[in-house]
Amino acid sequence: MLELRPNCECCNTDLDPDSLMARICSFECTFCADCSDRLFNGTCPNCKGELVHRPRRAKDKLKAAPASTRRVVNSTGCSSNLKD
Ligand SMILES: [Zn+2]
Ligand SMILES: [Zn+2]
Repeated sequence: MLELRPNCECCNTDLDPDSLMARICSFECTFCADCSDRLFNGTCPNCKGELVHRPRRAKDKLKAAPASTRRVVNSTGCSSNLKD
């Protein structure tokens, strides 16, 4: 099951479980659309995999299967991944 993390790993902006701005890779590295599109060109900076739209979980399912509240932020800062 997806964690549905509550924030962008890069800029730490909030991402609601029903946000259309959330992007994830296959490892569930989670970013906002701004970071994904503008900084990473749709490629996860951690694992080099695709960043895709995160599917939204239906609201009635969130009660039994709540979204993660554990914030994951890249401690090295997302800009460190941009020096290609
Ligand atoms: Zn972001
Ligand atoms: Zn990744």
